Amino acid sequence: MENLSNPSTIRELLTRHGFTFSKALGQNFLINPSVCPRIAEMGGAQPGFGVLEIGLGIGVLTAELAKRADKVVGIEIDSRLLPVLQETLEEFDNVRIIHGDVLKVDLHRVIQEEFAGMEVAVCANLPYYITSPILMSLLEQRLPIRSITVMVQREAAQRICALPGTREVGAVSIAVQYYSQPKILFQVSRGSFMPAPEVDSCVIRLDVRAAPAVPVQDEQAFFQVVRGAFSQRRKTLSNCLSSSLGLPKGQIQQLLESAGVSPGARAEQLSMEQFGAVADAYAMMISH
Ligand code: SAM
Repeated sequence: MENLSNPSTIRELLTRHGFTFSKALGQNFLINPSVCPRIAEMGGAQPGFGVLEIGLGIGVLTAELAKRADKVVGIEIDSRLLPVLQETLEEFDNVRIIHGDVLKVDLHRVIQEEFAGMEVAVCANLPYYITSPILMSLLEQRLPIRSITVMVQREAAQRICALPGTREVGAVSIAVQYYSQPKILFQVSRGSFMPAPEVDSCVIRLDVRAAPAVPVQDEQAFFQVVRGAFSQRRKTLSNCLSSSLGLPKGQIQQLLESAGVSPGARAEQLSMEQFGAVADAYAMMISH
């Protein structure tokens, strides 16, 4: 179907299907015709690749992915969009749509069953209300994927891609960078969507690492330390960890010193390796 980026075509299509936008499901559809081809090209949609898309809307990005990749599997939660997609993606025989919540679908199984013999990439214009849970779920499951290319709110992009040791870094940046190398690809203005959201967006790509950024003894302990370290922005590491891990301050100070980290430091000053060292010291402490 032509012109899935054209506002009047979209309005006609959606009215015909009795569809109204759901804010709760983060439904802001792309109407800027230059954006989807760029996401598809920079996101790895190419021969030899299967692409997993999250949240299809009316299929404007899906069509660009399907033109380039061997196969596209899309997961869409809103059943009202299924008849719309059937119409808009009719010409593609390499698209399969799964009706469901991406956080509940068994993605290992989907990849195994749908993308045998292909490299896999994830592409999406994400529903903003669950950006971090989706990214963390994709990464934590250790799916056999090469990259994740997604549109997110600009602030979320900056947070996710902030480097350890910089002011903007947070627990999400460390967690994402443990599993992948994130990069901001380009910005997209709010006027590129229907309806227009209140903020601008960015497309980012996470290149999934073959092995975590730092080797740690106990991943659970690592993420506990990272979350705890950033739990109170203005406080020192020893204060944050003492309250989040429920240990006396003296013990935390000892733990930090044994990891070679100053107890007066703040989470945003730590390198990935230092987070790894603190996590290993904590893992050793709780195992005794
Ligand atoms: N890809 C389309 C585009 O770019 O125009 C739509 C993007 S829109 C920002 C997000 C889409 O994700 C909506 O179609 C929404 O219904 C869907 N969605 C929201 N929550 C979801 C979930 N948990 N699982 C799967 N899809 C979801």
